[in-house]
Amino acid sequence: MSDSNANRRMTEREIVSFFDDAVNYGYIYNVYQPKINQDTGRMIGAEALMRMKHPLYGIQMPSDFIPIFEKNDLVFSADLVVCENVCKFLRKCLDTGVPVVPISVNMSRYDVYNHDYVEQVESIRNEYDIPVKYLHIEITETSAIGGMELMTDVIDKFHELGFQVEMDDFGSGYSSLNILKDLEVDVIKLDMNFLSGDIGGRGGAILSSIVQMTKWLNTPVVAEGVETREQADYMKSIGCNYIQGYLYSLPLEEEDFVEKLKVLTHEPVTYSTELVHSIKSGRFWDPDSIETLLFNDMVGPAAIFTYKNGKIDFVRINEKYIKEIGMNLTMKEMLGLDLLASMDDENREKLISTLEEAIETGEEQTCEVWRSVCSKICGSELVMIRSNLRMIGQADDQYLFYAMVHNITAEWKKYAQLAVSEKLFKTASEQNNTYAWEYDIATRKMTPCFRCIRDLGLPPLLENYPEPVIESGLFPADYADMYRDWMKQLADGVGTLEAVIPLTADRIPFIVRYTTEFDENGRPLKAYGAATQVIDDMDDK
Ligand code: C2E
Ligand code: CA
Ligand code: CA
Repeated sequence: MSDSNANRRMTEREIVSFFDDAVNYGYIYNVYQPKINQDTGRMIGAEALMRMKHPLYGIQMPSDFIPIFEKNDLVFSADLVVCENVCKFLRKCLDTGVPVVPISVNMSRYDVYNHDYVEQVESIRNEYDIPVKYLHIEITETSAIGGMELMTDVIDKFHELGFQVEMDDFGSGYSSLNILKDLEVDVIKLDMNFLSGDIGGRGGAILSSIVQMTKWLNTPVVAEGVETREQADYMKSIGCNYIQGYLYSLPLEEEDFVEKLKVLTHEPVTYSTELVHSIKSGRFWDPDSIETLLFNDMVGPAAIFTYKNGKIDFVRINEKYIKEIGMNLTMKEMLGLDLLASMDDENREKLISTLEEAIETGEEQTCEVWRSVCSKICGSELVMIRSNLRMIGQADDQYLFYAMVHNITAEWKKYAQLAVSEKLFKTASEQNNTYAWEYDIATRKMTPCFRCIRDLGLPPLLENYPEPVIESGLFPADYADMYRDWMKQLADGVGTLEAVIPLTADRIPFIVRYTTEFDENGRPLKAYGAATQVIDDMDDK
């Protein structure tokens, strides 16, 4: 036999007819690939991978024979051989004083529905008297596609017996997020193929969110298939230290793996998130849970956000929060606001030091800060927000906060002259002289800014504009026809309009301006209106 055909791929017929011999004479054997904590260089576990060696055709790889095993109903027996090999190996190590790590075996999706897989694995484990912590099961997302219930059943059974279950190939299937929601796994193996070379782009952003999300689920992540230093560094930078892949080690034959076990120190997997107040992480993120219901309907204005290295990201806010802050913003706009960027240095430092104090003490802390809230229509407005803040969870250096907020701008302004923050108040009141709105040319709908709603009593949306404001007397009757004509001009594509108009019941002069927004074909879409009070210079002196 020449070297070149030492590893000839076997045909389906050859594989099937070789199978019994392979099982009986040890031609199906295991290789082991370590899982490493790249932070410490220690081993956290290993995965057993099946190999088949034919006396003539040489080593066969799983991608060539597993599908054939599956098709011919042989994979179940083969998987049990792998499991038994693992147990034999672990027993030998335990008996000879070689330090061991948990080793995972792969469960084929065919094992889920055809057989008493769980019972068989358990009986092999008992036969070799292996502590259950040393044997993990890897399942794939695709196993669940045939039937979620069967899958949940298998996982539950393994859990009852004390086995840890790892979700293999996460990110390669088509419904990963749903699966995470429904299956309670102990470790997630994130497939680096997911990235296909695109770390800087969308793939990287998604990976980073997945890693963060799994932290809140308190499920450790192992990145698998890590081949390059760049991939490993990236995973580390987004908080995933556990990796498996060619970069650290190829799958090793038993003799080589034992040597690794002897020299590499081991460590257990650690869990990152602690949610205080007995909040269950699963329920906390579940849109149908009682916690979510409470948050949305039963409490006052509230927000949940994360805080990390001086940066705040909103996770959730409720409708009441939006109303309380004001400005007629949508949920999406509100979630997109950068809270810390909306404050001056002094207020920002005040908020951050309150957050730090809440972290340190674990107790609720209160602070009152000015922030400016921006909307496309209103421009910006300074509001004074009182927040009661409590740290409710921690994942590494990231903290989860719960905030109850109260808009105390009005109260504050009453006492503002007495208060220290005179400068801020002045800015706030100056800005109050501008009112803004958005006019949709096709539908003739007008969306007013928060100040219009608050000071002029307008509803959040006006139909058949400008008739309602003319009717209400807010807009003077003698200017009404001119103003109706403006709406026509806007519809005809005028770019800007401007005039001084006496507004409100008090007929205060305002400069009213319109600026039109056009679509790519030059058709007018929307017009942005603003009314700025004409300030009499004498008043300022
Ligand atoms: P898997 O469970 O996702 O196993 C990881 C595969 O990726 C292994 O291939 C491993 O050798 C390979 N790998 C490890 N590090 C790297 C890397 O850095 N880059 C790349 N490109 N690949 C890497 P292998 O051993 O050929 O196994 C392939 C698949 O066959 C496994 O994928 C698993 O689905 C299946 N398989 C392997 N052993 C068993 C088994 O005992 N039972 C069952 N049912 N399936 C098995
Ligand atoms: Ca696997
Ligand atoms: Ca995998």
